[in-house]
Amino acid sequence: MAAEIISGTDMARTIRTEITEGVQEMKGRTGRVPGLATVLVGADPPSQSYVRMKNRAASEVGIESRQIDLSEEITEDELLGWIEGLNADPDIHAVLVQLPLPDHIDKGRVLEAIHPAKDVDGFHPVNVGRMTVGDPAAMIPCTPLGVIELLMRSGIDPRGQHAVVVGRSNIVGRPMGALLLSEQRGGDATVTVAHLLTKDLASHTRMADILVVAAGAPGLITADMVRPGAVVIDVGINRIEDPSREKGYRITGDVRFDEVKEVASHITPVPGGVGPMTIAMLLSNTLRAARALIPGSSG
Ligand code: NAD
Repeated sequence: MAAEIISGTDMARTIRTEITEGVQEMKGRTGRVPGLATVLVGADPPSQSYVRMKNRAASEVGIESRQIDLSEEITEDELLGWIEGLNADPDIHAVLVQLPLPDHIDKGRVLEAIHPAKDVDGFHPVNVGRMTVGDPAAMIPCTPLGVIELLMRSGIDPRGQHAVVVGRSNIVGRPMGALLLSEQRGGDATVTVAHLLTKDLASHTRMADILVVAAGAPGLITADMVRPGAVVIDVGINRIEDPSREKGYRITGDVRFDEVKEVASHITPVPGGVGPMTIAMLLSNTLRAARALIPGSSG
């Protein structure tokens, strides 16, 4: 029997409605709304489009969004000065610096400069540490948080299950493993984290009750690598040349959707799976940050 397809697009729409209501409630209580600042350095077209998308999504739910466009030539100290200003700005509750940054800027220094309470990407070492020890005050990176939300809202609780994560980046794989292992909602799994140097990847993926793939390797996961009845979450977003498309490319995941859907019990599509959930979680983290920073904003 073919797998149930989990629509991240539909789920994200529901979450955005909930966030809109949350923002309205905050406005009613305090007269204030959450403020998100996105900082874009340079003119990299994909980064420009991501930032635009994030700001549009924020405005749609009533979050005040401010896009700060800075020159590619900006010095590290000048950029740190901007972040300091946003940290101190009472109307801004969430600060996001779009990556990648130009080579002459130390990414680590910049991410550490964002106040942990406003760090809605969850990349600050304080938040990484809090997440790792299961501190509920942690800001959690949006993509792995979106995967947990997607599982739980689909009635799939990782508790006691064997979850296998393919990929160990700081943005997706590593925090994904930490969340699945944590003792919090959406955690309590037995976790394997595989990566490029893992021997015999298939022997690990075949053990998964829940398989989360974040490798950036198009079509990496084939049907024979998936245990019948497993849940398969495809985080990969890969551009594949396709002259038949107007843009000359199409977007595909790390999982061979057509064959794996015949084996899995649940599967996420690309696009329309984890991607929309990531943006919804950014909005959710922004509302959460604002609630923590605005006195009397939650009951
Ligand atoms: P990354 O390149 O930083 O990390 C990839 C990880 O996968 C590495 O740990 C590497 O060891 C592992 N890996 C790569 N090829 C492998 C292979 N053949 N076998 C086993 N492991 C392998 O990438 P990232 O930032 O973690 O992103 C991963 C994918 O997820 C990319 O396609 C990216 O575009 C996508 N992504 C999607 C979202 C979303 O919102 N859906 C968000 C972030 C990233």
